[in-house]
Amino acid sequence: MSEVQKCRECGGDNLLWTQCNSNKTDVAEGRLRTHEITCSFVLGCEDCSETIAVISADKFIANYGTAQSELAALREELGQVKRTAMTEILALNSTLNNQAKELAAAEQRNAELSELLGEVLSEVPHGWGESFTDSELAESIRQAIKPTESGASE
Ligand SMILES: [Zn+2]
Repeated sequence: MSEVQKCRECGGDNLLWTQCNSNKTDVAEGRLRTHEITCSFVLGCEDCSETIAVISADKFIANYGTAQSELAALREELGQVKRTAMTEILALNSTLNNQAKELAAAEQRNAELSELLGEVLSEVPHGWGESFTDSELAESIRQAIKPTESGASE
C-alpha cells in the first residue's frame, strides 16, 4: 500500500492507517448529505501525530486491487518455480539411479571375471601356471576385470 516505513518527523515506526470522513464542499456542516462526504484513509504516526499520507478511499481500494493482483502473480510464479525444481530433482534422481545401476553391473561383471580368471589359473596344469600368469592372455583378462579402477573399459 505504501513504501513509507518510518515517520519523517520523529523517525518512529509506529504508523497506523485510519479512516477519515471530511467535507470538501462549501455546504455547511448541518446541511450535508452523504454524497458530499469524502472518505479517505490517513496514515499517521502514533508517536508524534504527524500525518504521513492521505489517500482517497477509491485510490486505497485501487491500490489494494493492484497489490492483490501482484500477490496472485507472485504466487503463480512461485508455483512454477516449485514445479520446475521438482522436475529437475526427479530427473537428477533418475540419473543417479541409472549411474548406480551401471556401477553395480560393472562391479558384478568385475567379480564374475575375477572368479573366471581364478578358475582358469587353477585349471592350468601344474608347472604351466606360472608362465600363463605372466602371459598376454592373463594380462588381457586382468585389464578387463578392472574397469572401474583403471578406466580401461567404458
Ligand atoms: Zn512521528
